[in-house]
Amino acid sequence: MGRKRQKEVKIIRKRLPSHYLCPNCGKNTVGIILHKDEGFARIICSACALKDQFPVKESTDPVDAYCIFVDQYYGVEEPVT
Ligand SMILES: [Zn+2]
Repeated sequence: MGRKRQKEVKIIRKRLPSHYLCPNCGKNTVGIILHKDEGFARIICSACALKDQFPVKESTDPVDAYCIFVDQYYGVEEPVT
């Protein structure tokens, strides 16, 4: 919080980011694990231990799984009227 990271310019970007912003604690500590063989995704935040698991299609990318996760997170937070 408030602490700036050391500036670092990386030219080579081989990998996709493996961690995403957590909707619960706001840290970049959400890991996405896709089990495509079994057809589900596991999401876990290493900072606050928020986690989720849901079925995904074979074509789902980690970022897609992350979007589903965030949608579900805010979905349950939404007050029922
Ligand atoms: Zn978190």
